[in-house]
Amino acid sequence: MKVSRQQILYATIFLAALSVVVWLTATLTRETAVEELRRTGAGRLKLFVSNLTSELEKYEFLPQILAKDERIIRLLIQPGDRAHVTLVNRYLEQANTISGASDIYVIDQDGLTLVASNWNSPKPFVGKNFGFRPYFQAAIRGETGRYPALGMTSNRRGYYYASPVEANGRILGVAVVKVSPEAVEAAWAGAPEKVIVTDYNGVIFITNEPAWRFKTLRPLPAAVVDEIKLSRQYADSVLAPLPVVEERPYDHGGSFLTIQESSAVRYLIQSQEMPTHQWRVHLLSDTRKVDVQIAYFSGYAAVSVITIFLILMYLLQRRRNLIQRLQHQTQIEETLLHAHRDLEVQVRQRTEELTEANRQLDHKVREQQRTAEDLRNTQEELLQSAKLAALGQMSAGITHELNQPLTAIQTYLGIAQQLLEHRQYDELNGNLSDILSLTDRMARFTGQLKTFSRKSTTSISELPLKQTIEDALVLITHTHKQAVKILKSFPDYDVLVLADALRLEQVFVNLFKNAMEAMRDCKDAKLYVSIEPDGGSIRVQVRDTGPGVPAEDLSRLFEPFFTDKEAGIGLGLGLSISQDIVNSFGGTIKVTNHPAGGAEFTVTLQAAESGEFRASNTTPAGRS
Ligand code: ADP
Repeated sequence: MKVSRQQILYATIFLAALSVVVWLTATLTRETAVEELRRTGAGRLKLFVSNLTSELEKYEFLPQILAKDERIIRLLIQPGDRAHVTLVNRYLEQANTISGASDIYVIDQDGLTLVASNWNSPKPFVGKNFGFRPYFQAAIRGETGRYPALGMTSNRRGYYYASPVEANGRILGVAVVKVSPEAVEAAWAGAPEKVIVTDYNGVIFITNEPAWRFKTLRPLPAAVVDEIKLSRQYADSVLAPLPVVEERPYDHGGSFLTIQESSAVRYLIQSQEMPTHQWRVHLLSDTRKVDVQIAYFSGYAAVSVITIFLILMYLLQRRRNLIQRLQHQTQIEETLLHAHRDLEVQVRQRTEELTEANRQLDHKVREQQRTAEDLRNTQEELLQSAKLAALGQMSAGITHELNQPLTAIQTYLGIAQQLLEHRQYDELNGNLSDILSLTDRMARFTGQLKTFSRKSTTSISELPLKQTIEDALVLITHTHKQAVKILKSFPDYDVLVLADALRLEQVFVNLFKNAMEAMRDCKDAKLYVSIEPDGGSIRVQVRDTGPGVPAEDLSRLFEPFFTDKEAGIGLGLGLSISQDIVNSFGGTIKVTNHPAGGAEFTVTLQAAESGEFRASNTTPAGRS
């Protein structure tokens, strides 16, 4: 795993913070705890001192009282009086029991013990000489003796109070009360501190730590040790110094003392003088509980620092994650923005391209339209030229077409003259009718030619379809005297179409004429004519029972000059002209062969807006 510079920095800060906090906590805890120890110790020390003082004071005046006792004075004056000796022994025994002292005894001028409270014990003081004891020496001088020592006879510690027994201004002996420190020590035994009482030489005389008895706080000078030994104060005790390995003064009072026994223990030692006894009472408070407190609080501080650090790390990590997420989001937004811009650019480019393409397309369409227009014009011109050329070619036919009726007319006119002369009016009338029909035929023929050779103008209007068809039928039945059954299927209301009346009639005349001609050799010739509304259009169907149109000719029928008729009979222009006319009305004309035989022409015309059929075009009524 690669450790980043930042991680090293964090680790360093963490360790530094941890060290500082732990050090500060330890220092503060130590100062506070030691000060607390000192404060408590000071109070406790006072308590121990006052306890000891009060314990000793109980006995302080007892030797003085005994020294004034008549029985004791008499004893010292007459030491040989056995009965008195016994009496005083008993008295002392009693006094000792009542006072709770260790021993009470009386010594004569030479240091010899005359009476003692333990006179009746296995090791009585009676007969022992304590002349060497400093308390005796002080008392025999007239002073009050105070002396701590180890009993020579009893080998038990004691504090000796001695007072001179005087009579008539003369010191006869000394009254001694020995007080045991054991009761005090027993009271101190349960104390958490070590309490030691050192004498004027520094020897531990009273203590609640039995192992320290008769040891010294500091090493004593050899001369002093010799002197103590000589005085037999502490019998054969070694007076070894306590194993103090370190001593350091404490600024706020007392000092730290490290004593190395089974283990090194550091104590805060506080001392107080007891001037009346030339003693010094010391209180040694174990500082290990301070160490426990330091360890506890330092640990607590370390845990706190670690927790805070972990929280900080967590927050930092969270912040970093948030920043990363934000950056990521910003990146995405930027990418999107770029993509959006790119798209906009692309769209703009594409739009421009499309606009350009559109413009080019427009241009092409216009060009094509122009080309188409040119083509149409050329076609029309071509057609026109073709028509004219054809007309030239067909002039012979035309001449023949016109000459025939003309010749007939001439013949009819000759006959007419004769009929007139013979006043045969009926025949004349018939004759004239024939001439009329011939001229009609000629007129239609020339009319056809006119229509074909020039573009006629069309005037479209609403016109009654049924009437137009009827007119055409009348016309055709006049010109074609054939046995043809005409079957009409017309609505019984007016059907209005948009067309030019004359020209539309021309179309139907042409269709009927063709049908008639096709059925010329038919036996049961029938001509079906029907009108049917078809949405906004009107459909007219003209069907005959002739041979129909050969399949290969169906597509060519409307071509100009397409005909199966002999020259002079048909020009092949009829259907072509009819198609032109119908188209000019916005209509169509188509041809099919009927399944039952015969050709069927369908002319579709635009219905006039105001046509009646509109009101009822879905229910065509009667048929005729
Ligand atoms: P024309 O009648 O002068 O030949 P049209 O253009 O009117 O010229 O007719 C073209 C040709 O179409 C005719 O020659 C004929 O062969 C064919 N035709 C037209 N109508 C019919 C019909 N009802 N049945 C069969 N053939 C027809």
